[in-house]
Amino acid sequence: MAGDRSGRLIFHAKFCMLFFMSGQTVHIKSFGCQMNKLDTALVTSALREAGFGFTENVKEADAVLINTCSVREHAEQRVLSHLGHLKHIKEKKPDMVVGVVGCMAQRLGAELLEHDAVDIVCGPAQILQIAELVTEALQDKKKAVAVTEKIRKAKPENQALEEFESACGIDDKAIPAQAFVRAMRGCNKFCTYCIVPYVRGPEVSRPPEAIIEQIKKLADNGVKLVTLLGQAINSYKYQAGDKTYCLADLFRLASEVNGIEWIRFVTSYPQDEFYDEILKAMAELPKVCNYLHMPAQSSSDKILRAMNRNYTAEQYLGLLAKARAMVPGIAIAGDFIVGFPQETEQDFQDTVELVKKARYKNCFVFKYSPRPGTTADKRLEDNIPLEVKRRRNIELLAVQEKVSGESSREFLGRTVRVLVEGLSKKPHLDSAEGQNLPQLVGRTAEDWIVVFNGPESLAGKFAKVKITRVSPLTLFGELSV
Ligand code: SAM
Ligand code: SF4
Repeated sequence: MAGDRSGRLIFHAKFCMLFFMSGQTVHIKSFGCQMNKLDTALVTSALREAGFGFTENVKEADAVLINTCSVREHAEQRVLSHLGHLKHIKEKKPDMVVGVVGCMAQRLGAELLEHDAVDIVCGPAQILQIAELVTEALQDKKKAVAVTEKIRKAKPENQALEEFESACGIDDKAIPAQAFVRAMRGCNKFCTYCIVPYVRGPEVSRPPEAIIEQIKKLADNGVKLVTLLGQAINSYKYQAGDKTYCLADLFRLASEVNGIEWIRFVTSYPQDEFYDEILKAMAELPKVCNYLHMPAQSSSDKILRAMNRNYTAEQYLGLLAKARAMVPGIAIAGDFIVGFPQETEQDFQDTVELVKKARYKNCFVFKYSPRPGTTADKRLEDNIPLEVKRRRNIELLAVQEKVSGESSREFLGRTVRVLVEGLSKKPHLDSAEGQNLPQLVGRTAEDWIVVFNGPESLAGKFAKVKITRVSPLTLFGELSV
């Protein structure tokens, strides 16, 4: 079957697998961004429907799937080291099937089968075939590759994938009452450093009714916060008859879904189209969280041009100012790449200045990592030494930490509403202060992390917390009634 890339056989195959696969277990490990977490949730759902069970213990699994990321080399190295570990397990358990799913599978294709551990290679657009691929690998012991040939030439609307995604449950209980919903696939921006357009394919906006149907199903299953996903989600555009739907329309439709209380969206690209409509809808609709993740990447116009980001630093700051004027209290997060080819100390200092002016809630800083096949990798030498990239990374984070510290102090004494995620992974508070209740973590609508003592039963529920102490990235407080 692996040759059939259309997914047409999937429904017939599902029926067969229900019969064959009961009792077989899968272990899934997921690397990378929210898009990958969502794909993992869809894969989990498809496998569950096909009769597979799941195990946290890799050594007990009949099949192990790794959902991979290709955005930076480091992410791929982590996958390769994990595959090395699986190779050792397979020496004692040769029947175990190992599948590489996602961006790295699409990027490397059949080359990955040369790794001793790997039996299945499945690109992001082939996840609809996953149950079939795993079943066949378990039964026939044959290796299989399912990826999209010439991905940039592939038809953007992939009907089979859309049907799969619409029909599939989103099986993600990682954070109770929260789920991701894809609004868009792929990307057409072609930032010169970025692998995403080559592994996720052309940009396509999903039909609004499919998105809203999914949100309704999630709400029926207790989901309160949905995060709409797209690489440049503010470019969302869907033509239905005379009507052009933009992200603001999705906000309006999603706001009408009973049970959904918060709506988030990531990631925004700094551009004007639909920006006013989106901000207006954010300001008007109480369910849309006042949170905007809009990466700048750099503040040097020379570097922005070399990155093929179609704005200047001044235009970017203008967009932030507009967001703050139209949506009071909005929290803004950013991304930066340091050490892009030819980034001088002055270019970097410009970025430092932008971070001071932008007043982000937080930002993510990455060291430039050349990705094979991208324009930057083909045309520009990776000429900034690693020590310089590291130093710039640390310096930029320190500047942001100061800004975040100033913003977080404004919360002292205030009571905030949080959606509780569950037990805090890091014990921060003295449990005596919390009457021996465990430490919980939650987030505000603006995505501030809040740690407090409370009953574990609050996971997945809203709570009010009075902030008594802060660090730059975390607010600490007491449950208030
Ligand atoms: N589509 C989103 C956007 O445009 O912001 C996110 C794309 S990417 C998965 C997330 C972040 O990774 C980017 O914002 C960028 O800062 C960083 N990134 C992408 N390619 C990179 C590379 N080659 N080296 C270092 N960082 C990179
Ligand atoms: Fe990559 Fe740029 Fe597309 Fe984001 S917008 S996914 S950085 S190409």
